Amino acid sequence: MKYALNYRSGPDGLHLYDRKSGTNILLDEFEISSENWSPAPRQVSIALTNACNLQCPFCYAPKQLAELSYVQLQTWLDELNTNGCLGIGFGGGEPTLYKNLPLLCDYINNHTKLAVTFTTNAHNLSVSLADQLKGRVAYVRVSMDGVGETYEILRGKSFASLCSRFERIRSIAAFGINYVVNSQTFPDLDEAVMVAADHGATELLLLPELPTPGREGIDPVSVSNLKEWVYSYSGPLRLSVSEAGADKLPTCDPLVKEKGLRSYAHIDASGILKRSSFDSVGVKIGDGGIIKTLSKLRPIPVEVGYENLA
Ligand code: SF4
Repeated sequence: MKYALNYRSGPDGLHLYDRKSGTNILLDEFEISSENWSPAPRQVSIALTNACNLQCPFCYAPKQLAELSYVQLQTWLDELNTNGCLGIGFGGGEPTLYKNLPLLCDYINNHTKLAVTFTTNAHNLSVSLADQLKGRVAYVRVSMDGVGETYEILRGKSFASLCSRFERIRSIAAFGINYVVNSQTFPDLDEAVMVAADHGATELLLLPELPTPGREGIDPVSVSNLKEWVYSYSGPLRLSVSEAGADKLPTCDPLVKEKGLRSYAHIDASGILKRSSFDSVGVKIGDGGIIKTLSKLRPIPVEVGYENLA
């Protein structure tokens, strides 16, 4: 990965970020006036495709076929890069099913200062794909909810086959585990931490299950158990909690004033800009680009569907 020190300005100060080492520096000794704040969100997640090789019961990704064009993505990535965005997270669906993923990561590394991460279920990650992504990605997030039978019931894939891919993943970049927490997966948390640490993971991101059609999301007993578990956690992995569903769990936010669309936005596989990946509300990105579309999204009340706004 090419050395690239990036920066953005915002209500918390001047933020410097080096995608190679992962170093963040915040210069907050002076105030930056709002007209000089970077217009792009700090982090943008992009669903490259809705296609997926699994059928997880708690999945909230849209199911209609959709995929973003490589040429369109290049334009958006250039725009985000010149407007102060620091990182892009590719997801889906399953981003490794997007045939231009290596080309896209290559483009980002050679033409921008953005850091790339992607979230994967790992079952489509071939040796050849891992080789093409090596050195072009800052971090990989691997979905693993529960161990052994729990994982296999939920993901419909062999747990041994997932474990056999961790070395391949580690050859691309450092990686962490995304863990959907519900009453089925909570009892496996301690064992999951040990398995993940043994395979070289550095972080565990807890994702309390969100409601989806036909499922209610995490139940109150599991929420309470999870809180207790988090407060007494002393395991080897860095622990983080998704803001969605955090529900008074301890979170660490060093950029306390950079909230909402200033800190994060999502682009779905149909080119709709949203506040988050599980949001049903958004605005179709028009010819004016992402920054113009952001200003349309900001005042929209959450109960309005994007179908009416495109
Ligand atoms: S792997 Fe991810 S995108 Fe695919 S079905 Fe499961 S949760 Fe949904």
